[in-house]
Amino acid sequence: MSGWTSGPRKTLRARTIGAIADVDPESTPGYDGDKKSGAHDLAEIGETLSALQEQLYAEGRSGGDRSVLVVLQGMDTAGKGGIVRHVGGLMDPQGLTVTGFGKPTQAESEHDFLWRIRNALPAPGRIGIFDRSHYEDVLPVRVHELVPESVWRGRYDEINAFEAELAASGTSIVKCALVVSKAEQKSRLAERLERPDKFWKYDPNDLAERALWDEYLEAYQEVFDRTDTDAAPWHLIPADRKWFARLAVARLLVETLESLDLSWPPADFDVEAQKKRVAALAD
Ligand code: AMP
Ligand code: MG
Repeated sequence: MSGWTSGPRKTLRARTIGAIADVDPESTPGYDGDKKSGAHDLAEIGETLSALQEQLYAEGRSGGDRSVLVVLQGMDTAGKGGIVRHVGGLMDPQGLTVTGFGKPTQAESEHDFLWRIRNALPAPGRIGIFDRSHYEDVLPVRVHELVPESVWRGRYDEINAFEAELAASGTSIVKCALVVSKAEQKSRLAERLERPDKFWKYDPNDLAERALWDEYLEAYQEVFDRTDTDAAPWHLIPADRKWFARLAVARLLVETLESLDLSWPPADFDVEAQKKRVAALAD
């Protein structure tokens, strides 16, 4: 009962979907279904995803060097944590590494901006999820003028070179920007203040970031214009409907894993001989 009319790898690709300012955050491009069918499809995709993840993990254990990196970006409240929980939650934690990137610590800021990123890359066989990433270094850093323009401008080329090198060494990179509307952000912020179980997510600083909405849109647009490459494609995920964003990211991940043509590693021992040995064991 899959409602996909066109895969998100194509439909949601930054260069296909158009400008971030023109994306309707309530839309569900390529998916002809509602919240109910979305939940059903997510569960179904989850089974495919976890089977593919196990093959990737098995390949890594058998000497393969491939891995997958999901980069999540988006304004505050866009739902990055929900993707980690609901899409990451479909997978085996043994094969998954999740890393969140906040304001650089003292130690981190003493290194190049890619230093902490390199340290968190998924090992062979793993799927890594970045909750924020090196793109923060051309988003808030740009918007708040934390470094001179000549510095952040130079980072697009550095990022492209870094990602190309990463892709060439066996990491499939899937970049996802969750696109939430200003109205939906207001309602999510308000909800965080109504529910004691959500206070921990409320950050008064988010209001200052919201005041810079248009500057962020401009910074995001330049990110897509400069760094949506075939080695490391960007996807824009309409995210006002949480169920769609989760489904779309899960589906993107499945499409990426399917493109790896994974197979179970063959035994590096004589199966028949081992069967005989096991059969001969005392009970
Ligand atoms: P959260 O994702 O809610 O934990 O918030 C993390 C905060 O750290 C956000 O306000 C980010 O914009 C900020 N942040 C992450 N990376 C950087 C960076 N490289 N430079 C400045 N701020 C950053
Ligand atoms: Mg926050």
